[in-house]
Amino acid sequence: MRCPFCGEQDTRVIDSRLSNEGDQVRRRRECIPCKERFTTYEVAEISYPPIIKRNGEREAFNETKLRGGMLRALEKRPVSNEDVEAAINRIKKALMASADREVQANQLGEWVMKELSLLDHVAYVRFASVYRSFEDVSEFTDMINNLPKQ
Ligand SMILES: [Zn+2]
Repeated sequence: MRCPFCGEQDTRVIDSRLSNEGDQVRRRRECIPCKERFTTYEVAEISYPPIIKRNGEREAFNETKLRGGMLRALEKRPVSNEDVEAAINRIKKALMASADREVQANQLGEWVMKELSLLDHVAYVRFASVYRSFEDVSEFTDMINNLPKQ
């Protein structure tokens, strides 16, 4: 890390602490040649893979849109905010784990449906009925029958 005062690269860390909610490290440094002090911040770089839509278009992952869709399905259902956020975090982790690849929009949809099926069956069916166009009634009933026990 180059000293912003004299340009030398010989600095030492004199203090290091977590800031915010532990997602940032703040380091106080001292330049050895000129003795000036400055602060650096270290954060993890989080990158999500592009989402490939059915028509082949690429789209950036949009957390607000994901949360919006899930909350619409969960409207007036007895599910806590914490449980919804935990589900969203699991989906984000799955996405981050695929960060070097591309993710198909329907894969993302499957992850959302899996989380909703664990949270609330009504929300799951609401989401699935919008998200998936069912080929026929048997496909729909298969889905209902395959729901995990609640
Ligand atoms: Zn310096």
